Amino acid sequence: MEWSNKFPLKSAWRDVERKGFRFFCAGCKRERRIFAPPQVGTAHHAAQVLISTAFFTLIAWPLFSWKGVVAFIPFWAIFEAVYRMRMRDALVCDECGFDPVLFLVDNKKAAKAVEAHWRKRFEQMGLPYPEKKLSGITPNPTSTPVYPEPTEKTSQLKPSA
Ligand SMILES: [Zn+2]
Repeated sequence: MEWSNKFPLKSAWRDVERKGFRFFCAGCKRERRIFAPPQVGTAHHAAQVLISTAFFTLIAWPLFSWKGVVAFIPFWAIFEAVYRMRMRDALVCDECGFDPVLFLVDNKKAAKAVEAHWRKRFEQMGLPYPEKKLSGITPNPTSTPVYPEPTEKTSQLKPSA
């Protein structure tokens, strides 16, 4: 999906530009925009959870009275879990499949995720995935070269033996 469709610059009902978070993808160097800063725990987030807690306290006043304020803790846990899941999904590049969070944890897994993304893209286009080139590396003379499996199109090009 195109990033401008996912997070449009203008909202559907107002002509005010949405404040997003912009950065450049480390994989494809494309400018990316996500719905909010990746950090959780800003004053804005605290205010959102506090308002929810106040509302819950008022609604549940006959049951818990002022002790309903303790609901801030589970509300915050739910808020942070959902925010992190949404952010984790939003940070993955649609174009190249680069996941910055996974890269910080384990860069080899991040490289495999990018490769899997491109394999899937090639599969969707019906093309064979180009295996890694060995340019600049001295090839092992004993190893046999790896060629992609012949497809219907390529097998028609070969003369039958
Ligand atoms: Zn990218």
